[in-house]
Amino acid sequence: MILPIVKYGNPVLRKKGARIESVTPEIKQLIADMFETMEANHGVGLAAQQVGHALQLTVVDVREVKDRPSTLELKGKPADVADIMPLVLINPEVTPAGEPATGGEGCLSFPEIFAEITRPESVDVKALNEKGKVIEFRCGGLLARAVQHETDHLNGILFIDRMERKTKEEFRDELDALQAATKAELKKR
Ligand code: ZN
Repeated sequence: MILPIVKYGNPVLRKKGARIESVTPEIKQLIADMFETMEANHGVGLAAQQVGHALQLTVVDVREVKDRPSTLELKGKPADVADIMPLVLINPEVTPAGEPATGGEGCLSFPEIFAEITRPESVDVKALNEKGKVIEFRCGGLLARAVQHETDHLNGILFIDRMERKTKEEFRDELDALQAATKAELKKR
């Protein structure tokens, strides 16, 4: 089922996700719905907060993007990114492993807003997958950016928090308008 995407101004986006202790049938259904929702919206990642659940759960799939490379290392050896796609990360722990790199980012919760964001170029990731099994890998490029953007969501952090002050100022009117529209919509319910 395609779920409605929560927009900036909805308080759930600022909530830290609760840890998932076991992959129940409800969580499995949520994962399937999140993939469907992400694909329908042509996203490369989607966090549980973006569909209204404050949980440590995100899905990522970078295969659609051909012009921005990703890298993957499994146990220190280069691996094919496609081998771990689509990716489910439950209770992820992300550790920076590379120098800061700047690249363009958007967010399904911020329609029409795209900005340059600086983050470590590569990261080490440890998480549970959809089977509740521990997965560990090092990734770089777009995949590392997507993983960091999504893991931020799980902690209530948004990409506007990572923007340079000047960039955020440039979006000030759009951000205020989006926040006001979301709050007005929530009041109607
Ligand atoms: Zn986002």
